[in-house]
Amino acid sequence: CFCKLNGAIDDCSCTVDTVDYFNNAKIYPRLQSLLVRDYFRFYKVNLNRPCPFWVDDSKCAMRYCHVQPCKEKDIPVGLKGADVPRHIHINESPVDKYKANQQTSDCNQNSDHNIELGYLNTTISSETYAGFERWQQHDDSLDNFCITENDGGEYVDLLLNPERYTGYKGPSAHRIWRSIYMENCFRPETSTKNTFIRSSKIDDMCLEKRAFYRVISGLHTSINIHLSSKYLLSSQNRLDVSPEGTWGPNFDEFQRRFSPETTDGEGPNWLKNLYFIYMLELRALAKAAPYLQKLEYYTGNQIEDKDTRLAINDILNIVSSFPEHFNESVMFNGGSEAQLLKDEFKQHFRNISRIMDCVGCDKCRLWGKLQTQGLGTALKILFSGAFDKYEPTLLDFGKQRFSLERTEIVSLINGFGRLSESIFELEKFRKIMR
Ligand code: FAD
Repeated sequence: CFCKLNGAIDDCSCTVDTVDYFNNAKIYPRLQSLLVRDYFRFYKVNLNRPCPFWVDDSKCAMRYCHVQPCKEKDIPVGLKGADVPRHIHINESPVDKYKANQQTSDCNQNSDHNIELGYLNTTISSETYAGFERWQQHDDSLDNFCITENDGGEYVDLLLNPERYTGYKGPSAHRIWRSIYMENCFRPETSTKNTFIRSSKIDDMCLEKRAFYRVISGLHTSINIHLSSKYLLSSQNRLDVSPEGTWGPNFDEFQRRFSPETTDGEGPNWLKNLYFIYMLELRALAKAAPYLQKLEYYTGNQIEDKDTRLAINDILNIVSSFPEHFNESVMFNGGSEAQLLKDEFKQHFRNISRIMDCVGCDKCRLWGKLQTQGLGTALKILFSGAFDKYEPTLLDFGKQRFSLERTEIVSLINGFGRLSESIFELEKFRKIMR
């Protein structure tokens, strides 16, 4: 079967089989129970930013592209005032707690940027604090691989809006993918202009450029596996299906997208790239684990928060125990040239994060933005240098603060959850093929 992949994952030291076992038996089931928890379920995103590159395709009116707004009553009280992750050591005074609980925002208000909430025990005057905050934001933005969205947005309940087949295709979808691969990916000099990159040419590029292509292609694979495994199966005139439709695996769709016969031999390479991006994000999680284990995952519900902390610590311990992690230290070595390459890498990735505002289907835009932000967060953890050596003091305000925002953490874990589910779904397709 073309979907039974063998051997080593390109540019990594481990094999597909090792990852299949590790993910399907250990990571995937745990992530499934973690991602339904309130802290990870609500994602703040602005789906109304205009496309900065071309005239909008006019947002599609396809029924299955619709994003259901969240119900205000479902948003945990603790999230209504927090964009900054809270650390477990913070002492909260009863007054602060009261203030936090008095936040009265609803789904549609941009009121979760109450910086103070993250630092409730600070003794610094507000003026010094504001200055520090501005510089810190400036410094942090240099580390970012994604464009940060400080201009509004709404909470979306991800459980109400699962990633699945929407019917988004044709020129609009193709323009996005073409623009990503042809204008914003590195290309081998030997490749023909205005064509999709052939996997056989990838080795003509250096490791960093290959890695860039592989993560984008892996993300594309993941999206297309999801839409094939949660395909719209019902037809309107059947009585045994709900009016919202019935979704399930469509093997023909999967085969059309990934078999060598229909993809000019490329499909299995695209599938392998899914494992590459998985390895990269797994390594980022392991690297940030000492910090992520110290967060409070505050939603305002003590029991829920404690369970979330236990669940995330359990996953992070397993992630860290993986024996053959991706080795990011071999990338971007070599003085000023390497620094230039890293800047270019960052620039290309930021452009891709902007292109997500051009996706003409709200549901695809939501998941596209979440997954690029998750990937951007992973790249920041791996390559900004801020996480290279664990320093407990980084968690204390006044020295240098932990530089991930809540939305970055939510997108990182949910983005990794998407990849984990794709690997799991791939195994199910393999079983159908047997
Ligand atoms: P496409 O997937 O559009 O691919 C275009 C070309 O890219 C292919 O012809 C091939 O040459 C090349 N290619 C394909 N796969 C890879 C790969 N893995 N690596 C490298 N090159 C590749 N649709 C949904 O139903 N639900 C969604 O949630 C959804 N989310 C999307 C999110 C984004 C950001 C985008 C841009 C699109 C999304 N889509 C979604 C649309 C979906 O990805 C396809 O574009 C659409 O189904 C049309 O598929 P296609 O067969 O024409 O090829």
